[in-house]
Amino acid sequence: MWESPVRFRGCAATVMLRFDSNFQPVRTPFFSIILYGLPFPATHRNGANVTVELTAGLIDKSIVESVSCPGLFCPTIAADGILTRIRTPGGIVSCIQLAALARVMERSGCSQLLITNRANIQLRSVQNLTEFDLNDLQEVGLAARNPDVDHLRNVMTSPMAGLELGAFDVVPALREIERFICETPKLAALSAKFSIGIDGGELVSVRDRANDIWLVAENRGYRLVLGEESPLDIVSDDPVELVRAVADRYLQYADQVVNKSVKHRRSRKPRLRDVIEHIGKERFLDGLVDCRISEDTASHVPTLGELDKTELLHSQEDLDRIGLEIVCPLGKLTIEQINGLIAVLEWFDLGEIRLTPWQTLLIPNVLRSSLKSIKIALSEIPLNPNANHPARGVVACSGKSGCASAATHAQEHAQRLITQLTKYPDRSFPSIHISGCEKLCAQPRGGDTGGSMGRDIVLIGREVDGAERYSIEQYGLQYGLLCPDDAIAQIITSLNAKND
Ligand code: SF4
Repeated sequence: MWESPVRFRGCAATVMLRFDSNFQPVRTPFFSIILYGLPFPATHRNGANVTVELTAGLIDKSIVESVSCPGLFCPTIAADGILTRIRTPGGIVSCIQLAALARVMERSGCSQLLITNRANIQLRSVQNLTEFDLNDLQEVGLAARNPDVDHLRNVMTSPMAGLELGAFDVVPALREIERFICETPKLAALSAKFSIGIDGGELVSVRDRANDIWLVAENRGYRLVLGEESPLDIVSDDPVELVRAVADRYLQYADQVVNKSVKHRRSRKPRLRDVIEHIGKERFLDGLVDCRISEDTASHVPTLGELDKTELLHSQEDLDRIGLEIVCPLGKLTIEQINGLIAVLEWFDLGEIRLTPWQTLLIPNVLRSSLKSIKIALSEIPLNPNANHPARGVVACSGKSGCASAATHAQEHAQRLITQLTKYPDRSFPSIHISGCEKLCAQPRGGDTGGSMGRDIVLIGREVDGAERYSIEQYGLQYGLLCPDDAIAQIITSLNAKND
């Protein structure tokens, strides 16, 4: 008899296996279980423990369903540990929150965090987070009090939100929307992948990222953009009202779409775009909010702000201060680096960092006069603000060590490539995407299966006769299938040719 925390998502369950008190993640998706002792208590809530008898055998997938979008209260099991995703609205993480993260990582056996391409945080730990850990995160605002809506705090802004001269300050709207999500239990019925982007017109823009809803700040208020911009777009000065209206309409129509256009997905809930497609955009928007965009509502264009090309410096409205961006190779930060970062932030009297969707971090409000000394302090951690860092342009998905769909060890190969690239410090580096399969999760665009954000070089993992291979596309040209070492050598050769 083993003990298993079972997490219910509608009728589906994600099952974690625990062998008495020693937790061991399941190492293969083919590990098989049969649950006896059903039914579970009907009022079972997230995270409650139940004891089930497990035997080796074929898995009954009708009983056990993996979570398509992991969260804090619904972790998934990967080959290399338990995968937990912490939503950080706007990518804004305070010093106090960083310290809580470090504590939780320490306790759960997680040596490094990953900044995701939605500027959230992903942990891979050897132990499931405990109630104590979850409380710790809730206390500092890194988790919702209501676990059912926590994952919906999936709100993206520019990492320079509220800081750039000439852009609208969307941070108050971000906070209001986060509060609305946390305080509205019925939103738990939304698709787990529901996402919101808020655009303040910043020069450091994230507007090219896919979000179910975009709220674009304009002179008159916020323009609601669902998919492509259109003359049907609605403007309101109340961003929360726009989100509430869209959520209500989704809930009104979602039942009509379930099990029709989304049969292939693991989640039973349709995406917002499926619902809009089903009923038609005009009908979806009709009477949604009683304020339509008018001809005289010109888009706001930021007038100032600069991006320094050699150092990752971003100008702020307060001209004495600057946003300092730091490269985190493959989006990773070790626990030692987090503790070092906290010490630097405290020393320089800085209260927060911003995570970016390009998997770097940004320290806002750095006094220009202390730039030199903070860079020296960061180099001791080590953290590197150099725009020419070879890791800056390299992204990779978790690959075989973390994803059952992967054909290759994408992370390990990306790390090997970065090591090779550091031998050429004076070069300008291409942007490279190494993917364990054609889904391109590390930098998706235009929805779940879009292209690769215009990367110079894209490597897509394939399995050929049981061996790991990459198909390579360089600067739009297709190359054949190569083994990982040859693929890395090919990139180095083309890098040298381009720089000679
Ligand atoms: S791109 Fe493929 S291999 Fe990589 S994480 Fe996504 S599904 Fe897995």
